[in-house]
Amino acid sequence: MSHTHVAGSIHADVAAAPVWLGLPDDVNALLPQLWSRNTAKNEAGELTVAGLTVSEIADRVGTPAYVLDEDDLRSRARDFATAFSGWDVFYAGKSFLCRAVVRWIAEEGLNLDVCTGGELAVALAAGMDPARIGLHGNNKSEEELATALRVGVGRIIVDSEEEIARLSSLSDQLDVRPKLMVRVTAGVEAHTHEYISTAHEDQKFGFSISGGQAAGALRQIHDHPRLQLLGIHSHIGSQIFDADGFEVAVRRTLRLHAAFAAQTGVELPELDLGGGFGIAYTSQDTPSSAQELAEALNAIVRAECLAAGVAVPKLSIEPGRSISGPSTFTLYRVGTVKPVQLDSGATRLYVSVDGGMSDNIRTALYGAEYSATLASRGSDAGPALSRVVGKHCESGDIVVRDEFLPADIRPGDLIAVPGTGAYSRSMASNYNHVPRPPVVSVRDGVISTLVRRETVDDLLALDVG
Ligand SMILES: *Cc1c(COP(=O)(O)O)cnc(C)c1O
Repeated sequence: MSHTHVAGSIHADVAAAPVWLGLPDDVNALLPQLWSRNTAKNEAGELTVAGLTVSEIADRVGTPAYVLDEDDLRSRARDFATAFSGWDVFYAGKSFLCRAVVRWIAEEGLNLDVCTGGELAVALAAGMDPARIGLHGNNKSEEELATALRVGVGRIIVDSEEEIARLSSLSDQLDVRPKLMVRVTAGVEAHTHEYISTAHEDQKFGFSISGGQAAGALRQIHDHPRLQLLGIHSHIGSQIFDADGFEVAVRRTLRLHAAFAAQTGVELPELDLGGGFGIAYTSQDTPSSAQELAEALNAIVRAECLAAGVAVPKLSIEPGRSISGPSTFTLYRVGTVKPVQLDSGATRLYVSVDGGMSDNIRTALYGAEYSATLASRGSDAGPALSRVVGKHCESGDIVVRDEFLPADIRPGDLIAVPGTGAYSRSMASNYNHVPRPPVVSVRDGVISTLVRRETVDDLLALDVG
């Protein structure tokens, strides 16, 4: 079966593509901003990473697999540490956490954010210094808080009145003096290329600044004999490209910081601006470098501190996606290729791979956009409008909604989807009892398994009959 287009039908296909998806000049070419730093195509047109071809990787570890370029992740961590010198950089572990990554980010000078007992356990198992760990979460259990206090985490980001009460009694019981930050909702919500500044903060995280709860929480902790108040914490969203949202959040947060200083005579020592820096998933995304972000945020904070009449506190940020995301591509094998005739007369190729929404839920969950390339070979065929779909029993089981792939794509080919280092393995499920793929790292031609492939035996081990 051939999917090669006759002249003319390609125009109909292009019309069926979203406006942002341009017809590529060369359907084999990689867009550098989407791929980890050691990824390329060789002369035969095959995708390589850190000296290995994807065929070698697939032969060694099977498919699907998350393939992580260790140098890339480390260099992004290092870039943040360097660009934000004088700040504390906390890697947001929820984007992707395993013991090797904990060791790498610690070696590159970063601290670590966790938000559950499970993430804390991984961090501690990797030997992370507890003083360099921050614990988040809107509903930390008593047990999670007690563990955090016992091991001596460096900061707990407090999210509710109940949590303050729990920390008060636990710190008495355990005779500790924990360092706390108060998570506030600044009334700013930022996503991708826009931010929304709302009057009321209709979501579950943090204490409202405008409603006065944030000021109350600060006073309560400040007045407590054991609890130590580090400062205010604000996280406004994810996959943000635009500094405007940060500017508004910093202004509102520093106004609260200044009001607290005026009332108590104490300038809080720290301020955390959260994470959420965007990465490229498609040709339309234009992420800032760590250096550009540092310059923008330093300028915003300096201007707002001056305006609020307070000294610049010790600052921290919490990048997750922007460190782990670009490091990884998911390698899939094509199982079926189905041309589907659309009402408009265009053809869309449904390319089914051996994974899907269980290894990448973001497309189904958020309508996230991804890109893909034919990875195992070059092709002379023209571009065909394609949709990369999984093997699950849902029509919404889509990995890449819109992409041009070579029209001769066929079963047995390998496809790579870049930008899956964040919120893919960490959000993976066992839907349809599909075992979760491994995470393998590649460096200098050597593959290491970081997280092994789940097996059917693993699944049955939980099913006690
Ligand atoms: C998720 C989260 C982050 C990291 O967000 P990214 O988009 O991965 O950078 C940082 N801080 C907090 C509080 C978060 O919840």
